[in-house]
Amino acid sequence: MQIDFLAKKKMPYCPGCGHHASNLNLAKALEKSGYNLLDVIIVSDIGCSGLIDENMACHTVHGLHGRVVALATGIAYALANKNKKVIAIQGDGGATIGLQHLLVAARRNVNMTLLVLNNNVYGMTGGQLSGLSNTSLKEKILHDEAYYPPFDITEMAYQSGAVYASKIMAKGEFSDKLGEAIKTEGFSVVEIIGPCPAYAYNSIKEMMELGYEEKVLTNTRPFVAPQFYERSSLFDSKNAIERQFSAKISNKLSILLGGSAGEGVQLAADLLAQAGLSCGLNNTKKGEYPITVGTGFSLAEVIMSNDPIYYTGIEKADVAIVTSQDGWEMVKSRVNEFTKLFVDETIDTGTVDYGVKLPFREKVGRKSAVLCAIAYWMSHSGVVPVDALVKTFAGHKHEEKLLEAVNTGISM
Ligand code: SF4
Ligand SMILES: [Mg+2]
Repeated sequence: MQIDFLAKKKMPYCPGCGHHASNLNLAKALEKSGYNLLDVIIVSDIGCSGLIDENMACHTVHGLHGRVVALATGIAYALANKNKKVIAIQGDGGATIGLQHLLVAARRNVNMTLLVLNNNVYGMTGGQLSGLSNTSLKEKILHDEAYYPPFDITEMAYQSGAVYASKIMAKGEFSDKLGEAIKTEGFSVVEIIGPCPAYAYNSIKEMMELGYEEKVLTNTRPFVAPQFYERSSLFDSKNAIERQFSAKISNKLSILLGGSAGEGVQLAADLLAQAGLSCGLNNTKKGEYPITVGTGFSLAEVIMSNDPIYYTGIEKADVAIVTSQDGWEMVKSRVNEFTKLFVDETIDTGTVDYGVKLPFREKVGRKSAVLCAIAYWMSHSGVVPVDALVKTFAGHKHEEKLLEAVNTGISM
C-alpha cells in the first residue's frame, strides 16, 4: 500500500522557492523507504525550512533556531530503536548557528539524517547572509572586497566522520539521492542547494552557474548504538522531609536574608527553608549573587506559606535579616516599617531607624552571622521553632559550628 507522507499538498513557500522541491522529494523518498508514518520523526529548525511541519503526515517536532541537530540527537538517543527514522531539517542559517552540533553529531555518528536546505540566506528573517553564502552573493549584498569563502558543510560533516555526506542541487527528481542518505545507518547529511527568489538567487539554473559541485562522500564507519548506563536519580540520596514541628504562620511569611559572598547566606537560607518544610509548610528559596560568586553581596529569599506559592518573589519582606553592608544595599529598598528587621550593628542603615541592631558578626564571626541572626529571630518570635532549624543540620560536617551559631543567637 502506498503511504502518503504529505498531509498537505499546498506548500507554504514563495513561488520558485527551492524548499518546494526539497519537500516533495523528501516525501517521495520516505514513501519509497518502506517506513510507516509513525516510524518517522521530522525535527525542524526555525526558518522557512521549518515550515515543513504542517505538510508532513508523520511525527514532527519544531525546535529553537540552530538547535535542530541537538534536539534530533536527543530524540535519536531516546528512541534507540532501529526501526525509527529521525530526520532533521535546517536551513543554511540554522546550520551556521548550530555548526558545532552538526560536527559533533557527525563525530558521534548519531543515527539520523540531516537535510541542510542551503539557499545562501536567512530567508525568514529578511535575507541576511549566512556562513554558507556564496561569494557572488556577498559581492552583490556587501559591496566589499573582503569576501570570505563559504563553509562547505558537506565536506565538514564528512571530515568530522559522517558516514554519508552529499551535496545536491534542488532540481527535478532527486528522491533517490535522499533515499541513499535515509537508508544509511549512522549520521548522514545532504546539503540541498536551492533558490530563495525573495532574497537571493532566483532559480536553480542561476545557482548551477555558481560552481557548486554535486558530490557524495562516504566513510566506512561501523555504526555502534549508543550505550546507556544506569544512573541513580538525584532524589535517591535525599530523604523526604517529614512534618515534625508546627509553625505559627497565619498565611504567608516572606523572609529576606542579606550578607556578603562567602558568609553562609545561601546555606542558612536552605536550612531555614528545610525548617519550614519540617513544619509542614510550603517553601520556596531563591538565591541571588553576582556572577563573580566570590565577591559582593549574597541575597536569599525564603517564602513559607500554608497555601501553595505561585509567585516566588518578595517585593516587601515580612522579615529581613541583614549581616553586612553589601547585603543591606540589596535589601534596603525591600523593607518598610512593617518589616521585622534585624541587622548587624556594623551596618549603616541611613535613614531607616526601625529594627533591631545587634553584634551578630562580632559574636560568631562573619561566616555564621546570618544563621545566628535567624536563630535570634526564631527564638524571640516563636514563629518557627528553633528545634526545626537545629534538626536540619544534624550530621552536617560543620554541625558543631552551626549549633554554636544557633545557641549564640538564642542567648542574645
Ligand atoms: S523567503 Fe526565501 S526561503 Fe523563505 S519561502 Fe520565500 S523564497 Fe523560500
Ligand atoms: Mg536559508
